[in-house]
Amino acid sequence: MSEVVDPATGEVVGRVAATSAEEVDAAIARADAAFVRWRAVAPGERARVLRRFAAVVDAHLEELARLEVRNSGHTIGNARWEAGNVRDVLDYYAGAPERLTGRQIPVPGGLDVTFHEPLGVVGVIVPWNFPMPIAAWGFAPALAAGNTVVLKPAELTPLTALRLAELAREAGVPDDVFTVLPGAGSVVGERFVTHPAVRKVCFTGSTEVGTRIMAGCAAQVKRLTLELGGKSANLVFADADLERAAATAPYAVFDNAGQDCCARSRILVQRPAYDRFLELLEPAVRALRVEDPARETAEMGPLISAAQRDRVAGYVEGANVAFAGSRPDGPGFWYAPTVLLADSPADRHWREEIFGPVVSVLPFDDEADAIRLANDTEYGLSGSVWTRDVGRAVRVARAVEAGNLSVNSHSSVRYWTPFGGMKRSGLGRELGPDALHAFTDVKNVFIATEE
Ligand code: NAD
Repeated sequence: MSEVVDPATGEVVGRVAATSAEEVDAAIARADAAFVRWRAVAPGERARVLRRFAAVVDAHLEELARLEVRNSGHTIGNARWEAGNVRDVLDYYAGAPERLTGRQIPVPGGLDVTFHEPLGVVGVIVPWNFPMPIAAWGFAPALAAGNTVVLKPAELTPLTALRLAELAREAGVPDDVFTVLPGAGSVVGERFVTHPAVRKVCFTGSTEVGTRIMAGCAAQVKRLTLELGGKSANLVFADADLERAAATAPYAVFDNAGQDCCARSRILVQRPAYDRFLELLEPAVRALRVEDPARETAEMGPLISAAQRDRVAGYVEGANVAFAGSRPDGPGFWYAPTVLLADSPADRHWREEIFGPVVSVLPFDDEADAIRLANDTEYGLSGSVWTRDVGRAVRVARAVEAGNLSVNSHSSVRYWTPFGGMKRSGLGRELGPDALHAFTDVKNVFIATEE
């Protein structure tokens, strides 16, 4: 039994039994058997089951959101969005089974058609920072394509995934089609990688663990999607709407207390606008409401654990702090949003993913300098460009090596559009119209017509 803690108070809010290696094997065997039945369910019926699942999630939205506030310290506003995102992603992919068409390709001597065949059992491994959405981005398209799913939530945040599994059953998802297996990465997660019946792994987490998982999957040529770390740039040109750029920058990095793979944790400001931008940023950071995440007004909650808070604090020690916001006193794993001035791009806080409410600011000279600094990282997940010059916006967005760019906005994740990283931020894409293809293999069939 491992204890589940409320990060806002440090109190134990539940106990969850870790799945043993034998139990994982048994669950995978059941999911493998269920695959034969699930893939045979007619596309229209599979769609109906997923729509019912979406409706049941919708009916429990507030309950799921409150559970996430308690288990993960997410603000209630964010947690409602996250539960709503699960519903939306299920609804979106419920439209897919009936549209998963292949092609008819002209060839001599017969008829040639392609099919998108489901893979089998898909193993989804989820981190603690967005337990609900990241789970759904894996399980919804995987199920829609006709696969069965075994899912491992992070050790610290298993509660909403376990509840989603119950809601799936309530919605009529057949037994063993969607199974949640809480437990250790080294036991449950590893088994997804090594078990031959798991035909694909969908991993979201650190680049370090993802790299090991990729090597493990290689041994079986196992399909793999990786969503890993980030150190994304927020590029503010001098011609931008500086008021808006400064007012929104805190949310782009301090949302979810900075524990967001898309956090714009490096702010690059063109030199003529540098002082003015910081002048505007300071009151915005100080005004950020860091408080009990269950309060409707909360804009930022605690960090996930004491260990994470200590890790974050380690990056701030000895760094040049420009200013910081507030944090509540008392128990819980709180850290005030903090703005650091980088002395150079070699600074540790400029280079490494902090995964906490800390942002580094550095000036740049011109467009070429901005692009060079933005790309001077092993990561490539997301980024923002603030400018009023349309040509520059397009040039810079094309030149920044990242999977998700936004112009005069900080939007990264929309379930209608592909999401994923370049370089060491990941492999493959989730969400969007093509996600089902990542959960299928193309089969080509030629039928001779010659007499
Ligand atoms: P982590 O890599 O430590 O753990 C992620 C998951 O992998 C957990 O469920 C963990 O139990 C499991 N795991 C650990 N070791 C394993 C192993 N050997 N085999 C199989 N599974 C194993 O990451 P974390 O600390 O939970 O999450 C933070 C990281 O996730 C950050 O680096 C962040 O950037 C990244 N992240 C990326 C995205 C994205 O979409 N790109 C989204 C969210 C988080």
